[in-house]
Amino acid sequence: MGGSLLVFTDLDGTLLDADYGFADAAPALAEIRRRGIPLIPCSSKTRDEVERLRRRLGLADPFIVENGAACCIPEGWRGIPLAEGRREGGCRVIRCGVAYERLRRFLAGPGRALGARGFGDAGVAEIARRTGLPAEEAALARRREASEPFWFEGPERAAELAAAAARRGLAVTRGGRFFHLIGAGVDKGAAVRRLVALIAPHLPAPLRTIGLGDGENDLPLLAAVDRPVLLPRPEGGFVPCDLTGLLRERQGGARGWNAAVLRLLAALDAGPADPRP
Ligand SMILES: [Mg+2]
Repeated sequence: MGGSLLVFTDLDGTLLDADYGFADAAPALAEIRRRGIPLIPCSSKTRDEVERLRRRLGLADPFIVENGAACCIPEGWRGIPLAEGRREGGCRVIRCGVAYERLRRFLAGPGRALGARGFGDAGVAEIARRTGLPAEEAALARRREASEPFWFEGPERAAELAAAAARRGLAVTRGGRFFHLIGAGVDKGAAVRRLVALIAPHLPAPLRTIGLGDGENDLPLLAAVDRPVLLPRPEGGFVPCDLTGLLRERQGGARGWNAAVLRLLAALDAGPADPRP
């Protein structure tokens, strides 16, 4: 196979199981590593959380955090010279989102009136309880830059809240466990396009992209790649999606991720015409 391949993946419920494990994805992870294919996490998690997971996964590739609010490219990655973004912690960080303080102001005002409560309203213990993360990792989840996960204390008034957010240049999306407040036009797909535009000129052509996700907030990511793969949600069933060329994997989480990646890589080996199984 000539050219380059990039694999973009959601984490929770996609590469990671509900207990945040990924043992069942080991064969495909090893194959991706053997082939030197960049594996680019694209998550609603924070930079601190994704960096920690990248270390566990043994990844050194770029990553997208907070639902597309920032793209992070390690300094010197594949020898690519980058002037964009700010230098932070060994990465070039390209922010696409709005300031966290602005999101908090909205949640504290109109959001609160509609019964919404976000990570910034909760302590580490409550975030640990709501996410199932150990306290140490819940503390990393609370260190946010440009998106705010939230939930409703009473009845779910998501449509009203999204309308109020839109009037202020903000948007609401839904992940596996929470709603997320972000800047308007900020999503995983916009971040994928931004990242591809930055790195593609420096990689061997033709460039092909695979994307895997399970949530509503992954739909823009799936729309931004050549080969979209939708996994069932941890609670069962697929989010509605009618993208052409979409592959629906039967199993969710690490096991489904593993099967889908191995099948797509084998299909790409078989021929460039159509990597559908
Ligand atoms: Mg997910």
